[in-house]
Amino acid sequence: MNPSSGTRTLLWFRRQLRTDDQPLFERLDTAQDQVVGVWILDPTEHLTVIDGERRSGSNRMQFLLETVDDLRSSLRAMGTELIIRVGNPAEILPDLIESLDIDCLSFVEEPGTEERRVEREVMDRVRVSVRRLPPETLLELDDPRAFAGELPEVFSSFRRDAEKHLDHGQPRDRPLRVVPVGIPTEVECGRLPGLVDLDLPDSDDEPRAVLDFRGGESSGRDRIREWMHEGDHLGRYKQTRNGMLGPDYSSKFSPWLAIGAISSRRVASETFRYEDERIANDSTYWLRFELLWREFFRLHLLKHGPRLFRLSGPADIRMQWPGDDERFERWRSGRTGVPLIDANMRELSTTGFMSNRGRQIVASFLAKNLGVDWRRGARWFEHALIDYCPAANWGNWAYAAGVGADPRGFRGFDVLKQARNYDARGDYVRHWLPDRLEALHGAAAHVPWEHGGEPPIVDSEASLDAARVRWETATGEVHRGKRGRSVRRRRSRR
Ligand code: FAD
Repeated sequence: MNPSSGTRTLLWFRRQLRTDDQPLFERLDTAQDQVVGVWILDPTEHLTVIDGERRSGSNRMQFLLETVDDLRSSLRAMGTELIIRVGNPAEILPDLIESLDIDCLSFVEEPGTEERRVEREVMDRVRVSVRRLPPETLLELDDPRAFAGELPEVFSSFRRDAEKHLDHGQPRDRPLRVVPVGIPTEVECGRLPGLVDLDLPDSDDEPRAVLDFRGGESSGRDRIREWMHEGDHLGRYKQTRNGMLGPDYSSKFSPWLAIGAISSRRVASETFRYEDERIANDSTYWLRFELLWREFFRLHLLKHGPRLFRLSGPADIRMQWPGDDERFERWRSGRTGVPLIDANMRELSTTGFMSNRGRQIVASFLAKNLGVDWRRGARWFEHALIDYCPAANWGNWAYAAGVGADPRGFRGFDVLKQARNYDARGDYVRHWLPDRLEALHGAAAHVPWEHGGEPPIVDSEASLDAARVRWETATGEVHRGKRGRSVRRRRSRR
């Protein structure tokens, strides 16, 4: 330990890329302790090639790099530095600890299985004291791992318990200044790489995107202010949240939440402030309800670990998956011939975002109607989504595929019914497929094959029935309707 001052701490920023409500600042003696931050871009996590694509696509990477840049500016304003490196954390951290004469490494654990493996490798190699903080939670939990061990499989049981017995945690204050660890001249602070350095194509601005997403804590806080407080959209959220077009039908907080540029505790506390200042209604409650879904999936990943990523999912349902490469490629590139699917997939690949309604529909279509291994869809989302988050993505995919949380009864979306309910006039599909649907007015845009166009990749009813049979065969759970045809026991209410 350096005798002239407090502890010299290296703060390893992983998915808490912010200064507000920052667990790494907890219990620091900000008058004494010296701190410096580090962010490491791990090529295994981002640049490995799967199904011919990098794990992180350009849109996601661009958002991440903007966020790190903003974090560096915020830390500099607080008086310290963010060191930037590209490589394996288990190799980089011990070197840095030595060259900066660090006494303590501090980081926040993540629920993901790969992230935990990286943590173990780091722990094996560093020789100074390590402060491991438990995974972040919205709820005030003494021990998130122990709590996750007892997590019910059904969201509604978790929610009831969470709402009755558990408090939302309070966001932490941010220190105005910190004492920096002095950086010797021979230690480089590191340049933030650009997309071109990472061999990724430019991410072009897309004028049709729902929002011009910019990474960083500052823009995340701006979005909360603009959407919730200035735009006053929270008070109508429950009625608008199933939309697909435009910036304000839902909060669009997910990209910032996913990489920790804003915290779920901060968002929840802003909803309470909104309720004090404006109105408390079912919409204001509903945003916190959605944050509980996020919390549930994070705890669910902590509970199930690698089981979440296997084909039979955490529920271990061993279904047949007859869908082939061609089906997957047509789905991925938006060429299924079903406009609602193709429009959503085009939105995703060009902008990195898709509405929650869209995600549920396209995931159900790939896994149920096309019978394709659902993990290929989850991996494509991982590449393309700017809000990619392992827990929310894989948890929702497993759920949509019928092998995840709450696997009671077969559920599948009737894509044409979804189109009638959520895009009755065809505005959304024409927005994304103007080239194909120009001549089709109103709801006709959803069924081009009824107006002389190509037939869709599958018959949606027949393929859903076939999926039901596969699911029932695997689970042994058959529920027959009056005419002997198997029927859904419960419809998805999400
Ligand atoms: P809002 O409706 O405004 O909700 C507010 C916040 O609540 C969101 O920002 C998000 O953090 C959380 N939330 C809402 N719904 C869910 C949900 N079903 N599960 C978990 N959290 C939720 N969300 C991600 O953040 N990252 C992902 O990688 C991801 N992958 C998904 C994959 C599939 C197949 C599906 C069906 C859903 C996925 N979601 C994912 C959940 C959800 O679609 C997005 O969080 C939401 O669309 C983001 O838009 P928003 O911020 O405007 O949400």
